[in-house]
Amino acid sequence: MSTTEEEYLAMLKRVREKLPKVLETSERFVIPDPEVVHEGGYTHILNFKEIADAVDRDPDHIILFLSHELGVPIVKAAKRLILQARVKRRLIEDKIQKYIKNYVICPECGKPDTKLIKQKRYVYLKCEVCGAETPVRKV
Ligand SMILES: [Zn+2]
Repeated sequence: MSTTEEEYLAMLKRVREKLPKVLETSERFVIPDPEVVHEGGYTHILNFKEIADAVDRDPDHIILFLSHELGVPIVKAAKRLILQARVKRRLIEDKIQKYIKNYVICPECGKPDTKLIKQKRYVYLKCEVCGAETPVRKV
């Protein structure tokens, strides 16, 4: 007996309904690869806005972090970033991963559903899944 497409889709739907919410959450968390172009002594990250949206953090905070980590002044221009030096794509990827590890992923449960809470003297990561509050280093 062959399964019709309709039956197959219905089965998929049943399976999905049984999946825990957290799994859906991590599937949703996909960060686009940076599109990097070098021009003269500059490095452009063409899809920065897309990355910042996916990371779901204040773009200015990400820029501050990247600027500190790379030791390079960075200018935001519409949807792109312009780094005022030649920076290898690989290094940019590493720094974005580091940002996500430090400021997005909950160290207790590993989920990205967090908020960065800034207070006067410190910053912490509040997890919406497990409720953990983890102090993080100020950029
Ligand atoms: Zn958590």
